Amino acid sequence: MRTIFPSPEVTPGPRPPLSVPRKTSCEPIFSTQTANSLAMIIITRPDATEEQIQHIVSRIADWGLRAEVSRGEMRVVIGVIGAEDKIRQKPLGAFPGVESVMPVLKPYKLVSYEFRGTASRIKVGDVVVGSKEVVIMAGPCSVESEDQILSIAQSIRDSGAKILRGGAFKPRTSPYSFQGLGKVGLQLLAEARRESGLPIITEVMDTKDLELVAEYADCLQIGARNMQNFSLLREVGRTQLPVMLKRGMAASIKDLLMSAEYILSEGNFNVLLCERGIRTFETMTRNTLDLNAVPVLKAETHLPVVVDPTHGIGIRDFVPAMALAAVAAGADSIMIEVHNAPEFAKSDGEQSLLPKDFADLVRRVRCVAEAVGRAV
Ligand code: PEP
Ligand code: MN
Repeated sequence: MRTIFPSPEVTPGPRPPLSVPRKTSCEPIFSTQTANSLAMIIITRPDATEEQIQHIVSRIADWGLRAEVSRGEMRVVIGVIGAEDKIRQKPLGAFPGVESVMPVLKPYKLVSYEFRGTASRIKVGDVVVGSKEVVIMAGPCSVESEDQILSIAQSIRDSGAKILRGGAFKPRTSPYSFQGLGKVGLQLLAEARRESGLPIITEVMDTKDLELVAEYADCLQIGARNMQNFSLLREVGRTQLPVMLKRGMAASIKDLLMSAEYILSEGNFNVLLCERGIRTFETMTRNTLDLNAVPVLKAETHLPVVVDPTHGIGIRDFVPAMALAAVAAGADSIMIEVHNAPEFAKSDGEQSLLPKDFADLVRRVRCVAEAVGRAV
């Protein structure tokens, strides 16, 4: 008889430690122990001097509160974060150079546009996301072999992509589908980065893999299925690596913003938000790419917005149309799956573009970007 469970006679040895304490590179902003945390914004006068701004920041620090300084074109906004009872007693409006002080009323505080008063630019390697340039990320769904990833990396770079994507840890709907090459996949990505010069983005699925993935990745991806994995969100929030957070397939825009807040609240402000399609009653496409999310997110948050039209529609022939629409709608970046031999792909071959079709798409993206005042 086949046994599925270990026989009861086997006595397990001592359990290894469950987790390795991880170095944290930044202090949490909102203590999880504090029942009520508050964010206030101090809007300085257009003529406030640097000395006045530094004075405000150092007083806030003396009070045990945290200040986030954002420099817009016209004026400086200082976000103040801390326990509500502590903040409320402080005379934040009394400093010279202050024009007004107000609380952030939105449930997502650090993520809200008003908290910074200006759009954030996030660096992935040397590539800036959130500027005038629309950044194109591309690569296979999964890293499969050295030949595959090196050849795709080179072709997408030559076509104009700025960041290489590829999954080493794959969240698959079926446990019997290809799960990714794991550490070997990360090593192949690092080799592709060396050869192509492109920074890499790859998914981390589990807190137990974070240390390993963080050794290789220039940007961590949190997939749709993990958007509300709050322990993972907190852990990536304790690194300073850029994180691209994908919208869950049944998550509202507000849910996405609240999940991002978990990451920022741990001290990591390097977050990109990604619209990748949601589940609807529609069955003709894999998902429904919700491009409404782009202008809404641009208004609600300072974080850059990425659109993934590949998973959003899930059908190769229709990906380019949605990529162009995403750029027209105001996306700061688009992510496209590309495969050199889609019929042999271990995942998502049916939605991956061939390198030559990707090259053609980049040319068209450039035209649309220019038409809406952006560049590629
Ligand atoms: C992917 O980017 O390959 C992926 C698995 O995406 P999502 O989490 O959006 O399904
Ligand atoms: Mn995929």
